[in-house]
Amino acid sequence: MSKDYYEILGVKRDADSDEVKKAFRRKAREYHPDQARGDKKEAEKKFKEISEAYEVLGDKQKRQQYDQFGASGQNFGGGQGPGGFDFSGGGFNFGGDAGGFGDIFETFFGGGGGRKTAKGGAMRGNDLEAQLGIKFEDSIFGTTAEFNLTRALKCSHCGGNGAEPGSKIETCKTCKGTGEVTTTRQTVFGAMRHTAVCGDCEGSGKTYEKKCSVCHGTGRERKAEKVKVKIPAGVNDGAVIKLAGQGEAGTHGGPSGDLFIHIRVEASREFERKGNDIYSTQKTSYIQATLGDEIPVKTVYGDVKLRIPAGTQSHQIFKLKNHGAPRLNTSEKGDHLVKILVEIPKKLSRKEKDLFEKLAQEAGIKIKKGGLFE
Ligand SMILES: [Zn+2]
Ligand SMILES: [Zn+2]
Repeated sequence: MSKDYYEILGVKRDADSDEVKKAFRRKAREYHPDQARGDKKEAEKKFKEISEAYEVLGDKQKRQQYDQFGASGQNFGGGQGPGGFDFSGGGFNFGGDAGGFGDIFETFFGGGGGRKTAKGGAMRGNDLEAQLGIKFEDSIFGTTAEFNLTRALKCSHCGGNGAEPGSKIETCKTCKGTGEVTTTRQTVFGAMRHTAVCGDCEGSGKTYEKKCSVCHGTGRERKAEKVKVKIPAGVNDGAVIKLAGQGEAGTHGGPSGDLFIHIRVEASREFERKGNDIYSTQKTSYIQATLGDEIPVKTVYGDVKLRIPAGTQSHQIFKLKNHGAPRLNTSEKGDHLVKILVEIPKKLSRKEKDLFEKLAQEAGIKIKKGGLFE
């Protein structure tokens, strides 16, 4: 179901960014549709796959997210892809925000490279990042969080086309409505047509008699809006959740960017989490530790009875299997590790004192009356 991007690029899971970059360049050269011998269609498919894999693994944040959620988890792949590569026309259209991988392509194709010119010239909106703090319990059980976000959204007055409603729409004279201006350049791969956005209509192919009075022709307006995000059970501090298409709106009806939500999990007073295991301490009486007993231990799933054997030592650690945090996208759980702290009484009753003296006698220990310092 999910694609293994590491396998596609042929790198190990712990490969550093340099190795990933090198592997990508090697593969991209091999399968570049203008270079590949044999089945062009197959090469094109392969090239897209490689590009998609690199878009994720070449980006520290996306790679981290992929490692945590997999390709299927949070809207990677499937339609999103690296944003329209258009091989059919011979030119390259860098649709969408090529992100980190734009840099590589500019060197790769001899510089200059296309800017964000999607089909029809509309520009994709920016990706946005937001930070979201959640409670420790919510990180274990998952939740749906809501927060306010101010961002550029599609203009509600003109519907995103940038024209004042009712205004006459004319075809752009410079690009004759295509939104693009094409030039030919020489590259290492031979002559290549390069397509850029028409400056006069900013790629829309249309000019308006009157620009929208709200957005002044950009097709966007800034608005505060509630954003809802589903937090999966078991999410860890530092995880990044991608909400595809929830970034800023594109200009002239271009696609929206993505929204990346960085999760911060509040510390818990009782629990500490390492990986999917949860740690806590539990105080217990020296009598129970000595004789052995069943003691209550608080876990994230409620109180659990733990059997401690006779002779349990202070700082001894016991494992409650499957009482840790859920492993993302599985039904598995980590463990809960509880450290026993044996408490020594600070005050004894007369009767307890007598009993201790008898115990001392039994053990052959001579206690100096009145204590050592009196
Ligand atoms: Zn408008
Ligand atoms: Zn134009």
